[in-house]
Amino acid sequence: MTKVAVVTGGTRGIGYAISKRLKEDGYKVVGLYGGNAEAAQKCEGEIGIKTYQCDVSNADQCREVLAKIEDEVGPVDVLVNNAGITRDGAFHKMEDDQWEAVIKTNLDSAYNMTRPVIDGMRNRSFGRIINISSINGQKGQFGQTNYSAAKAGLIGFTRALAMETARKGITVNAIAPGYIATDMVAAMDEKVLDSIVAQIPVGRLGTPEEVAHAVSFLADERSGFITGATISQNGGQYIAA
Ligand code: NDP
Repeated sequence: MTKVAVVTGGTRGIGYAISKRLKEDGYKVVGLYGGNAEAAQKCEGEIGIKTYQCDVSNADQCREVLAKIEDEVGPVDVLVNNAGITRDGAFHKMEDDQWEAVIKTNLDSAYNMTRPVIDGMRNRSFGRIINISSINGQKGQFGQTNYSAAKAGLIGFTRALAMETARKGITVNAIAPGYIATDMVAAMDEKVLDSIVAQIPVGRLGTPEEVAHAVSFLADERSGFITGATISQNGGQYIAA
């Protein structure tokens, strides 16, 4: 049976590339988006996937949309927790809403999305959960206490859930991309970006397609012995243990 893959933030940026790649790999792909319906519609037309609106920071919306997907498309075999935002600022100037939005969207979302699908995966003895973390969750980043905390939290979540689900045919892994050429990075100051590229041994930004390639690899049935891992994908910028 054709496997179903759900990608949060699956209609733009890295998520778009992941949806496209998984579609090419033969999955029935569902892309979730937050508010950008225009991008979602464009994505449906371009890569031929279904899309649903869902605010991943809202547990009720996640439960509802996943029930709808299971009903309309089928049980979820692969879940890619990719949606994320930044609200940067020095910690001594950070406001409550900056902290909360980033933790809710980047970290609570993993609970909100994974909790409703885990029983089904356990019952069917198969599942692939792939969490998109970040280099900045591994090493920290000036101005990103909120984002670094959320992305490091995702790595802890990945490891603990991997232990709990290993006997059930479910793997849980994280990918920690470095700087990837998407809107999120295009929004950065040009000088800051130049200084970042200068610190990347490979000498360039990564591409969304490269991240999608790692997702495809982890989602594959043959990757069943890899669980609890974090794949660093950063052009050598930070070589973690
Ligand atoms: P983009 O800003 O290009 O896209 C973000 C995606 O997340 C959009 O599809 C957006 O939906 C969705 N999203 C945001 N908030 C919500 C929400 N509350 N509910 C549902 N969906 C939401 O980001 P990138 O593609 O650059 O990043 C993707 C992931 O990769 C993020 O988790 C990011 O932290 C991580 N990452 C990115 C790096 C980079 O260099 N770009 C580096 C390391 C990690 P909509 O289209 O509706 O707005």
